[in-house]
Amino acid sequence: MCEYCIQHGAGKKWYLAAQNYARELARSEERESFIHDFFKNYRRNYNRNVRKMDIAGRLPFVRDYAMKKFDSYFNYKHSGQVISLEDAVSICTIPGRVSVIDCPCKKYLLGENEKKCILFGTTAEIVDNIPEFSPVQDMGAEDVAELLKDLDEAGQVHTVWTFKTPYIGALCNCNRSDCLLFHLKERYNSKNIIKKGHEVAYVDVEVCDGCGICQDNCQFNAVDLQQGKATVNKRCHGCGVCRSFCPVEAIHLLPKIEV
Ligand code: SF4
Ligand code: SF4
Repeated sequence: MCEYCIQHGAGKKWYLAAQNYARELARSEERESFIHDFFKNYRRNYNRNVRKMDIAGRLPFVRDYAMKKFDSYFNYKHSGQVISLEDAVSICTIPGRVSVIDCPCKKYLLGENEKKCILFGTTAEIVDNIPEFSPVQDMGAEDVAELLKDLDEAGQVHTVWTFKTPYIGALCNCNRSDCLLFHLKERYNSKNIIKKGHEVAYVDVEVCDGCGICQDNCQFNAVDLQQGKATVNKRCHGCGVCRSFCPVEAIHLLPKIEV
């Protein structure tokens, strides 16, 4: 359980609670204009934040203050958390519109289109009206589950994202090379930009043959190889990418408390 589960999930996984996707929530606290500005000015906002943070990082008295503001933005306005494939599929069965758009980060960073950013309800309706993101493609539960499975097998990390926490508007599928938030996380060494999930990887050493495929594909440098066996370190975010790639099914995702 994380702080959001206590505050926004009645002690259960907060991102599985239907009220955090509700239209009424999306319409409160000026979220709709926040979401519109977020997508409409995607590149400008990113560049502006990086510029500000880079300048602040060079000024000793300002750096700590700027980092606090930065962390607070990602806690209260655009918070992301890693989730498992199973939870990603469950989220997409919560009643309401489920749509997919080309990933804005990938388009910006690599100039490539890939439909892998899933939007919910009000967020999809707002993005519908921003020409750069059209077409917003609606999906049924079975199709979206298939898409998520394919993305999982391709090594993508599933994450939920808030627009003014706790409203969840998006489920992203990212990797280091094509995600602006991964870049920010690494650039400023922030724990808050993509928070760890509720599970952690566990390696069955009796089954592991030490091939190293999990280490090659972990995007958080969370796998070590010792004496011919994989071990998972504290950087594990519980994404399950290693599990998908392990050829002998030696890796399981377990709730953190069981490990
Ligand atoms: S991919 Fe599986 S078998 Fe290979 S090192 Fe990792 S846990 Fe072991
Ligand atoms: S060890 Fe596995 S579950 Fe943990 S972060 Fe790496 S790929 Fe994800």
